[in-house]
Amino acid sequence: MKVISEANTAVLKVLAKFNKKTEKSRLMHYVVETPTEGGVLLYNLLTLEMVFLTDEEYRLRGDSDYLKKQWFIVPESTNEKELADLVKMVINPRQDNLNPIVGYTIFTTTDCNARCFYCFELGRTRIPMSEETAYKVAKYICEHSNGEKVRISWFGGEPLFNVSAIDIITSELAKAGVEFKSSAVSNGYLFDEETVKKAVSLWKLKRVQISLDGTEDVYNKTKAYIYKNTNPYQIVLNNIGHLLDAGVSVQIRLNMDLYNAEELMELIKELAERFEGQKKLCIYAHYIFDGNIPMAELRTESEWQQREELMCKIENLIEEKGFAFKSGIAKRLKRNHCMADSGRSVTILPDGNIGLCEHFSENEFIGHIDRDSFDESVIRSWKETTEEIAECAQCFYYPQCIHLKKCANDRICFAQSRNGTLRKVKRQMLNEYKHWIEKSDPEENDDDFIVAE
Ligand code: SF4
Ligand code: SF4
Repeated sequence: MKVISEANTAVLKVLAKFNKKTEKSRLMHYVVETPTEGGVLLYNLLTLEMVFLTDEEYRLRGDSDYLKKQWFIVPESTNEKELADLVKMVINPRQDNLNPIVGYTIFTTTDCNARCFYCFELGRTRIPMSEETAYKVAKYICEHSNGEKVRISWFGGEPLFNVSAIDIITSELAKAGVEFKSSAVSNGYLFDEETVKKAVSLWKLKRVQISLDGTEDVYNKTKAYIYKNTNPYQIVLNNIGHLLDAGVSVQIRLNMDLYNAEELMELIKELAERFEGQKKLCIYAHYIFDGNIPMAELRTESEWQQREELMCKIENLIEEKGFAFKSGIAKRLKRNHCMADSGRSVTILPDGNIGLCEHFSENEFIGHIDRDSFDESVIRSWKETTEEIAECAQCFYYPQCIHLKKCANDRICFAQSRNGTLRKVKRQMLNEYKHWIEKSDPEENDDDFIVAE
């Protein structure tokens, strides 16, 4: 047996007084297994330890003192949900006040140079951030980050449709000596070579997420850019090349509905040919639905099954081409679901309003950059979690699970969403194991490995 990732000692301390070695035993509900070359990986989502067992060790796992001691194998009568609740309560308090604020999602504009039919911002007001507001945003960041390193995500609309706001904010932060790095959610159209150079040096840009909807014809029709007589698909692909050449990581998001899976697979093959060997490129698929309606409320069981099968095919192809996310397993229990309940991040809208969730650009504000106070009731409402459901009692993901009542993307748990999470955890386990092997081999070193949050 090999320990690939050590258990969290704080969790083990909390569990220590419950350890019993009597009666019939079984695998803890929170242990996920996945086969790999020559054996099986076991990952415990409560203690966060991962081990590798040879096939023979796996066959005899029920007799292993180590697996019993480390909570992989537990007495039959164990109520792991009670244990997990205790662990969460003792070692994982949530952060309550917004101080310091180190994560900023900045809407430089709510306008965009494309007109995608599925955009969640359709019908909303399109306004750019003024220069005056951009200066105030920089000042606000200086005053609220308490000297900590700041992460900025440029968001919109299309954030590069208002480059001057980005230039002002980043120049002012640099002048004030605030340490920061940034990322962007962009359609990629405006990342020409000169802009990329500036983005790396002035904006400290490290990562860009770009959505692609299909190969050339499909992409150009779906995006419906405002520019005439251009080939946006080729422009965006060239720009992805500029970003990668400049050392910026690019995450390509494939927007998947029920009917475009074949098209997306063609696209993945095209991208793989064009960007072969690019370590800073990863691709992932994401279901798109209508507006803010929760995924689970929309479709029938059989439709979901069809979607899941298509999603698996796409994920396998991405993996085969070497562009899957390289994130490993989580090393600590989750304290929050996302930026909205982190207690350390805010969104800033073009007019200076401050919010918590990037999907809200017209309401749900907690304050304004001209004021220091926040609306605590809105902040509290974004921390409210959904009620548990019957399936939580035996769900593998319970120790790490947080669903926010207000998150349209994620407020409902259903069988297919749990399947997707299980697939993701298994991939992370394999990534972690591969990384562990490479670490022990001085010839191999994977700099792009990401530790899951
Ligand atoms: S809400 Fe769903 S994913 Fe979370 S623990 Fe319960 S059953 Fe599992
Ligand atoms: S949509 Fe959901 S996951 Fe995204 S920021 Fe809002 S609350 Fe968080």
